[in-house]
Amino acid sequence: MAHYVCTGGCNSVSDQPGTCPTQECMKYHLPLTICHCYDSSHREAYEHPNYTGAEELTHAE
Ligand SMILES: [Zn+2]
Ligand SMILES: [Zn+2]
Repeated sequence: MAHYVCTGGCNSVSDQPGTCPTQECMKYHLPLTICHCYDSSHREAYEHPNYTGAEELTHAE
């Protein structure tokens, strides 16, 4: 199941799109990255840290 993680180092995970809630994090208030891992490694998110999943929703032209 898709989840959203922060790749700024704070390890925030959310089940909904959003931004990093951790003020001390270097990606504070930046969009979380979509991930589909099953083992909490969040490798997908770390390999594509700028992919938020938003493109999936905006394919209609
Ligand atoms: Zn963060
Ligand atoms: Zn993950």
